[in-house]
Amino acid sequence: MSHMTVERLHELFDENPEKEALAWNGECHDCKKPMSVSATPQADGIRIDGGSVYEPETNKFIIKCDACFLEDPVLRQYQDCEVYSRVVGYLRPVGQWNDAKQSEFEDRKLFDSSITPKVA
Ligand SMILES: [Zn+2]
Repeated sequence: MSHMTVERLHELFDENPEKEALAWNGECHDCKKPMSVSATPQADGIRIDGGSVYEPETNKFIIKCDACFLEDPVLRQYQDCEVYSRVVGYLRPVGQWNDAKQSEFEDRKLFDSSITPKVA
């Protein structure tokens, strides 16, 4: 998948000339432990500490700790899943609904058709 390339790191340093090091703080994508990754320019390249950085979309950064990277270096399940549902008569992506309707969507319950109603 899209590992951070050295070229992209140089680009980020060029975009942030005031920074001596870059850091990504957050949680590991896989194990959710809080962590941070830093990139520091050295004479012979850029030193990465703390884990791995992925950029599946421009400026969308995802970090993974070393342990999880060793287990599986591939970045999986990083895309937001667009859910369509019916809102006032139309099928629209839930992400585009207004806040009130999105909150109402959270309250919706799934109908389980496998449950047979008990007949007294
Ligand atoms: Zn991890």
